[in-house]
Order: sequence, then structure tokens, then C-alpha cells
Amino acid sequence: MNEFKLIDRYFNWACYHSVSLGVGDDCAVIDATLHTQTVTSVDTLIEGVHFPKNTSAADIAYKALAVNLSDLAAMGATPKYFTLALTLPELNEAWLSEFSEALKQLSGEYKLDLIGGDTTKGALSITINIIGEVEVGRALLRSGAEVDDFIYVSNVIGDAAYAWQQIEQGDRPSDFCLERFNRPTPRVTLAQELVGVANACIDLSDGLQQDLSHILKRSKVGANINIDAIPLSDEVSSYINTTQDWCIALAGGDDYELCFTVPEARINALKMIEKNLGMTLTKIGVITTNQSLDIKGLDKTCTSYQHF
Ligand code: ADP
Ligand code: MG
Repeated sequence: MNEFKLIDRYFNWACYHSVSLGVGDDCAVIDATLHTQTVTSVDTLIEGVHFPKNTSAADIAYKALAVNLSDLAAMGATPKYFTLALTLPELNEAWLSEFSEALKQLSGEYKLDLIGGDTTKGALSITINIIGEVEVGRALLRSGAEVDDFIYVSNVIGDAAYAWQQIEQGDRPSDFCLERFNRPTPRVTLAQELVGVANACIDLSDGLQQDLSHILKRSKVGANINIDAIPLSDEVSSYINTTQDWCIALAGGDDYELCFTVPEARINALKMIEKNLGMTLTKIGVITTNQSLDIKGLDKTCTSYQHF
């Protein structure tokens, strides 16, 4: 099998949207739409950096797409298309078939079309460029937080980082934490509901402390957070109770939950969203004027992961 047969067999399937030109030409051609803005983002996953060496092809495909969906979710956008740049150490058909199936499955759940990519040989790495749309002027931005907004986090945080820490120490994480690490749920539906309700939003990829700081910086505000309000699973909660290692939840990363701010006047609308989606949204603090992030109850600083 050569490169082109590989592409055709594993990465060329029917589209959900009316794509003028998908896989097969030099570029994909997408029809422009009135009243919408195009929202796009790219993320790379590298073996050994973003996932451990023995991760299954299905889990890699899932995560590569999920983290990109999460970026679009952070903007309140509707995902529509993606391209895939795949670097493979070898042509392993069993691996490719598992990878392709998982990718097709998750992209199908979001009616997301694979419209192009690139296939090369080298150390395993997966880059996905995702493209979506949002009504003109309606994207959720990091820069919209206002003083006195309440700060919320979806679901619970820290599970993925706890799994990664255990893997690194040679221990086996619980199925729950491993699932949270390998298969994060992108909060696409929640984010779309938050359009017009939240003032600012970010997805938690590097840890709450660093990611919330991005909102504060872009919005030129500060925040008071109460450490005891941070939503944790039973497992992470009991780990923190024994170790006092709050940094696992604040700086571990890989949560892919949303952190957003809502003005008091729209809290009732938020409560409706919470009820309709059956999802826990936890108030963790408030936006202030003092341009710094104060975490009440934390007596040290946590360092988040940075590539350089
Ligand atoms: P070019 O040489 O013009 O860059 P390629 O030979 O790399 O084109 O790719 C041929 C076609 O297959 C293009 O439409 C490209 O977008 C698509 N393609 C290549 N690799 C992938 C992939 N991994 N997934 C989806 N489409 C791909
Ligand atoms: Mg190419």
C-alpha cells in the first residue's frame, strides 16, 4: 500500500455538510456562509509528550479530535470540518484501521467532516486543524470578563492529571481517571448554550490556574477563588485530602472542562442550562478589579506545564 491508497482507505469518507471539495485535490474548498464567522484552531499531539507510548490508536484518535473540539467549544462555536496531518513511524494497517474507526466515530457524533490532511513518515504525531462557525459577533472570548462576574467550572477537574501522574510513577490509574485522561468530553453543547449568557470562556487544557489567568489578563481584571469550592471527583478529593497536593487540580491540565464567567443578572439563565443539560456547573469565585488571581486557602504556587 502506498501513501495515496492509505489516504483513500483510511481517511476518505462521506461528508455531512455540503463541502465543495474535500479529500483529493490540492486544497479543500468550503462554501462561505452569510451571517457567520469562521472559527479555527490547530492542536498537535506528540507521543511521549501528550500521551504515553502504549496508548491505543483509538484513544489517540479520540483525544486528538476531542482537544480540538474543546477549543472550538471554548468559543461557543459549532464544529464543522477538520484536517488531519498524520506522521507515522510505519505503515501499520491494524493501527491505521483502529485509528480511522475511532476518528470516524467521534467526528460522526459532532457531524464533523474530514476534508483534507497530510500523511508523512516520522515519529508519531497527530495534528488536527478544526474549523467551525459562530454567528457574527457571538463568539465567547477570553476578553469579556467583567468585575463582579461569578466564575464557574463545568463538571470536576484534576482526574486526568492524577492519571498521568500515576502512569509516570509506574502505577495504574483507576478506570475513571484513565478515561478522563484518554477520552475527555469536549463541552460543545454547554458552550453553545453559554453564548449570550457567559461574558468570558476558556477551555481548561493547562490547568485552572494558568487558564483562568488568561481570562484575567485578556479582560484586564482579577479574581478571588475559594479553594474549597473547586469541584473534584471523590478520587481526586481523597488524594488531595491525604497529600494536600492542590496543584494536581490547579495546574495538572488535560481537564478539557470549561471555565467561564457569568454576570449576576444571568445566573437564572445559567441555572436553566445546568438543569436542562443535567450537568454540574460550580461557582468557584468572583471577578475583581485587582488584576491578580487570589486563591484563598492555597499556601503555595503551582507551576503549570509549559513546552519551553
Ligand atoms: P499535496 O501533495 O497536494 O499536499 P497530498 O498528496 O499530501 O497532497 O494529499 C492528497 C489529498 O489527500 C489532499 O486532498 C489531502 O488533503 C488529502 N490527505 C492527505 N493526507 C490525509 C489525511 N491523513 N487525512 C485526510 N486527508 C488527507
Ligand atoms: Mg501533502
